[in-house]
Amino acid sequence: MSVHSSPVWHPFTQHALEPEMRKAVRTEGATIFDADGNAILDGISSWWVITHGHRYPPIMEAIRKASESLDQVIFAEFTHEPAEALARALVGVAPQGLTRVFYSDSGSTCVEVALKMALGHFHNQGIDRRRIAVLEDGYHGDTIGTMSAGERGVFNAPYDPLLFSVERLPFPGPSPEQEQETLDSFEKLCREGGMAALLVEPLVLGAGGMRFYRAEVLRELHRIARAHGVLVIFDEVMTGWGRTGTRLACEQAGVAPDILCTSKGLTGGAIPLAVTMATEEIFASHLSTDRRKTFFHSSSFTANPIACAAGLANMEVWRNEPVQQRIDALGRAHDERLERFRADERFANIRRIGTIAAMDLVFPGGGYLAECGPKLRAFFRSRHLLVRPLGNVLYLMTPYCVTEAELDRFYDGIEEGVTHVLKEFAR
Ligand SMILES: *Cc1c(COP(=O)(O)O)cnc(C)c1O
Repeated sequence: MSVHSSPVWHPFTQHALEPEMRKAVRTEGATIFDADGNAILDGISSWWVITHGHRYPPIMEAIRKASESLDQVIFAEFTHEPAEALARALVGVAPQGLTRVFYSDSGSTCVEVALKMALGHFHNQGIDRRRIAVLEDGYHGDTIGTMSAGERGVFNAPYDPLLFSVERLPFPGPSPEQEQETLDSFEKLCREGGMAALLVEPLVLGAGGMRFYRAEVLRELHRIARAHGVLVIFDEVMTGWGRTGTRLACEQAGVAPDILCTSKGLTGGAIPLAVTMATEEIFASHLSTDRRKTFFHSSSFTANPIACAAGLANMEVWRNEPVQQRIDALGRAHDERLERFRADERFANIRRIGTIAAMDLVFPGGGYLAECGPKLRAFFRSRHLLVRPLGNVLYLMTPYCVTEAELDRFYDGIEEGVTHVLKEFAR
């Protein structure tokens, strides 16, 4: 569908430069089939949402079944079993202390909810804490609030007048000195007072370029926050549901946040749903006969029963199937294939955590950097591979069902694509 024949305005798409949209007609496993009969391998899990595989049977079955008895039901004055059962299951597997589950429908929204909970928590107690600390290069969504908390740049420059300010900590790493600098600057901010919450993506800054940092740093940030009465919000929208090798990334640091956000893989990626989990303390600060202390947030589709049923089915997949073994095996398969890039000077910072493999393309004359991304993407497209570099960062984040042969196609494609594009620029 071209910009001339379709009224659709696509996200993160420059219609003046993009080739025609391919029309997806069917999905299965790690593959998107288009209307021209092409089978395109999904190397980014359709923007990081699909975990087990496209149209994963138990999840699709749960959606079908739930739709036989319920559609959207107002979630004030009513509850329903899919929401109740999913909430109980989430509390059962979440880090200690997260006993309350607030539903919404996207990653951005569940982070907005988290920020509102944090500020409401202090406001309702008459405590003047309203500053928010974040990590540089963070990404939390594209709404005004989450853009405010995320890295500023070309993506949000026009909206700058609408964005509120937050405290930015330098990225923690890779050197121990840089890690210490992050911790020191956080400690200093906490000492200044008025700090309400620290909002971070644990272990991996996704959209910020698949930048990894150590679990020990996360643990230290958590310790400092606790010592100063600052709430900790983990945005596990991308990292959740096995992406980093454990169900939640924060498990690797052995720390529990006060507020946890999860979305993308919550339903295995089949259907939109998000939750913000909070501690009993945060719930209690909103519990009052004074109606002004109500948590004033809702979206029309809060706790959609069909989506909740999909979420519950995802949790059953985690309980009944060897998901952890699949993730571990996928990680090893990535490692074997990343090996050949280590001696290749065109690539740097070759890294993997869980099911995410990434490497930086060393691009001579970085001025062209902006152009290498689209050129690589075009090459991958010609090979029926869905791979979208983040600037000069090449990464793979496939559904867990990807086969070894499919992985080979990705890695061969990356090697050939880079050779092809570098040659083009050398001309
Ligand atoms: C994708 C993402 C979001 C936003 O989720 P949407 O569903 O796109 O609104 C928030 N935080 C992180 C870490 C993400 O990767």
